[in-house]
Order: sequence, then structure tokens, then C-alpha cells
Amino acid sequence: MTVSVKCLECGTPMETSIGPYRYGRGIDVLLHGIETRRCPECGEEEVVIPKIEELHRVISHAIARRSGQLKPREIRFLRTYLGYSSVDFANLLGVTPETVSRWERANKPQQMGKPAERLLRMLARFGEPSRTYDLEAILLSDSKPSENEAFRFSRAGGDWELSEFC
Ligand SMILES: [Zn+2]
Repeated sequence: MTVSVKCLECGTPMETSIGPYRYGRGIDVLLHGIETRRCPECGEEEVVIPKIEELHRVISHAIARRSGQLKPREIRFLRTYLGYSSVDFANLLGVTPETVSRWERANKPQQMGKPAERLLRMLARFGEPSRTYDLEAILLSDSKPSENEAFRFSRAGGDWELSEFC
């Protein structure tokens, strides 16, 4: 059964398609089986992403379990997922806020020390996420996707699952 959804902008019935969707441009997350609605009249688009908190949790766990150095965007993603401001995060780890911004900057980032990185991974895996984080702003922000670093997720039995590290 298909429910026809009308465009919020112009009221035209929207066309629905199901397919892969690149969700996190910053950390490059590819989701499978995502419903996208497009208005044939005005071009307005809507993306339906179910269970978004669960999705953010599995993305965080996937980053935390990945081998290799954390990338600046991943550090920022995990910090935000856990609900720390740069200042709070700096205080937690005993570094300056400037150090945190150097870890997270895209150009010539400073490498995060091993103890700090391990702690962040532990918190991301076993800590409680913040209820007030604003990950959408990060995930939908500007940086270009990198084809070779995608995490891919699909829904199995309604729950989000990591399908592969690329
Ligand atoms: Zn429209």
C-alpha cells in the first residue's frame, strides 16, 4: 500500500523511490534502502531516514571499532555524539580547546595522542550518547565525500546494521 505524500511547497503528489543514500558527507556514510521523495513539479526533495538515533549509535560504534587513526571528522562526530563541547572535551582529556580544534580541522590536523584516542573510542562504544547533540548539522555539512572511506549501513529486521567497512 502506498500513501501519496504531497509536496509541502506546492501540494503536488511526490514521487517516491527507494535506493542508496549518502547520509554523512563528512564521514561518508552510505545507507541502503532509503526512501527519497521528489516533487515532479518544483523539485523539492525529502529523505526518509528511520530510527535516526539508532543510526547515529551504530555509526559511532563503527567509527570506534575501526582500525587505524581516527580522522578529524570522526573525532568531531564522536565528540558531538557524546554531547561534549570542544571546551568540555578539552577539560575531560586535559588538553587545551585549541588542541581539540587542531585534531578536528580538515587541513593538516594534529594527530590525536593514543591515550586520548583510546578514551574517545571507549566512550563512544560504552558511554551514553547525549540527548541534545546536533549531529545532523555535522552530517549534512559541507566537505566532499571520499569514495574509499565509506561506512555502509543497511536495515536488517528494522534495525540499522553495519554492512561493510570500505
Ligand atoms: Zn513541489
